[in-house]
Amino acid sequence: MAIRRLPPHLIDRIAAGEVVERPASAVKELLENALDAGARHVRVALWDGGLERLVVEDDGVGIPPDDLPLALERHATSKLPGEDLVHITSFGFRGEALAALAAVARLTLASRPADLPHGHALTCDHGALGPVRPAGLAPGTRVVVEGLFARLPARRKFLKTPRAELAAVVDVVRRLALAHPEVGFTLEHDGRLLLALERDAHGPGPTAWVARIDRLLPGGAQALVPVDLLRHGVRLGGLVGLPHESRASPDQQYLFVNGRPVRDRLLAGALKGAYADRLPAGRHPVAVLFLDLPPEAVDVNVHPMKLEVRFAQPEAVRALVVAGVRSALDEAGIRPVAVSAEVFARPTAARAEAVRAAAGVADGVGAAAGVAEPVAWPLALPGGGPAPAAPAADPPRPLGHARAQIARTYIVAEAEDGLVLVDQHAAHERLVLEELKAARRGQRVAAQALLNPEVVALPPDALDALEALGPELATLGLELDRLDDSHLVVRATPAPLGPCDAAALVRDLAETALAERDPQALEERLGRLLATMACHGSVRAGRALSLPEMEALLRRMEEVPASLTCNHGRPTVVRLSRAELERLFHRR
Ligand code: ADP
Ligand code: MG
Repeated sequence: MAIRRLPPHLIDRIAAGEVVERPASAVKELLENALDAGARHVRVALWDGGLERLVVEDDGVGIPPDDLPLALERHATSKLPGEDLVHITSFGFRGEALAALAAVARLTLASRPADLPHGHALTCDHGALGPVRPAGLAPGTRVVVEGLFARLPARRKFLKTPRAELAAVVDVVRRLALAHPEVGFTLEHDGRLLLALERDAHGPGPTAWVARIDRLLPGGAQALVPVDLLRHGVRLGGLVGLPHESRASPDQQYLFVNGRPVRDRLLAGALKGAYADRLPAGRHPVAVLFLDLPPEAVDVNVHPMKLEVRFAQPEAVRALVVAGVRSALDEAGIRPVAVSAEVFARPTAARAEAVRAAAGVADGVGAAAGVAEPVAWPLALPGGGPAPAAPAADPPRPLGHARAQIARTYIVAEAEDGLVLVDQHAAHERLVLEELKAARRGQRVAAQALLNPEVVALPPDALDALEALGPELATLGLELDRLDDSHLVVRATPAPLGPCDAAALVRDLAETALAERDPQALEERLGRLLATMACHGSVRAGRALSLPEMEALLRRMEEVPASLTCNHGRPTVVRLSRAELERLFHRR
């Protein structure tokens, strides 16, 4: 075939695929333009998840009428006055978004600079540009996009349901609104107001961030601590979650570089590193982190949607994030515990083995899948051999008798042959999970009605996700009713949890539900919801237990051998035999 130069409209359509792939990416580009234009308020309105129509309106500087056609041309931008690709401070600079949208939809651009008595508009229908005409408009800019990809069935096919597209738009608005508290945002869908965020005139800073986080994150800002570290002209600010409020997925991590939302592996990895010794594997902190550095220290021009960045000194950035987050957590009193017993001083792999062996947990049981199988009783002691049989009158108590609680977290028990330590929260969580599973096998989990039904405020996508799960949650003993676009009421909680924090439970479930965007087997999803619920059982780490309560927990654990491993596959019991104690004290 002969080589030919592609006509401009085809080039635009191909390029459009890089910038605009769904309504959410269109909203992102248009919102960024509004922010670049210095808007104080922006309004986003969608119809049918944005597939039918989407509008983004701002009160920014506007576009002079003569420039309107140019704004729709590819590689036409007002944001790169010179040749400098380094000192970029605006969101845009590639001059691609409007041209791309105008190539794959019907786009109307209307704008009025504040010094003109009225505005002007022009429409571009799939690349066919109309004339500039006068239009009534308040100062600012309005972009209307209709029938996105309607004429490109191949692209349209990849779009999800309107509900899923709306959820993605909410996420885009959430990310930009977190970074820009100095701008007010409203979001409407099919004529309903979903979100209205007031602007905070003081601009970014801990107070404004907290206010936005309270409105935008399912868990609010309650369990977050402020981060603030300045090093060599690079600043890390924001808020991070306390380890005890960790999450089942990394969905609640919002990272920004110079005010730009990013999904950056290096930053995410550094955050993980900062929590390494404070969170079990599989749990993720909440974080809203802003990294601000000189433009020459970061390249934002490595990704068409500008989601990834490249740092000139990645190691320094990583170290800054780890140090900033750690010192924030340390200040909040979350220091890692130094353990000195010999059994803990071995290398990690060996240590895990030793702990398992000491707990008498048979090799490999439940470790990988997190599902424990029954362990033979009485427990095998290290060095082999079953525990000595107990006298008939005295039923065997392999976990011994509770003597004390330490750090409000561990039960110290004296067993026939040594010392037993139990992680109360992990053990209880496992017991609750087993109870929930057993109850479900018998169909429904009993519900405990709340004397005072609790009203919980949640973002719209979280409410939708929970509403969709309503019937399943009811069979698990959790009864919810949606009140309006931003609230639901909890009427009953699963009885096996005991008295629990209903709001925290619902927020965690919303997050688990949101994390699972892909439809999957019902049973698998229920399993995950059960595990999330189990975390909210009433015996948490940090709760003082009385001796009878501890005794009761030990006895229940003996009845449910699966409780020897927690829901995440770690041991819940550590056992030091008398022989092992003697070795530790060099008595042998
Ligand atoms: P870029 O943002 O990369 O410059 P766009 O295609 O998104 O490219 O926009 C092209 C130009 O149109 C911008 O450089 C800007 O001059 C103008 N423009 C677009 N949206 C707005 C807006 N909301 N307010 C003012 N000017 C705008
Ligand atoms: Mg732009």
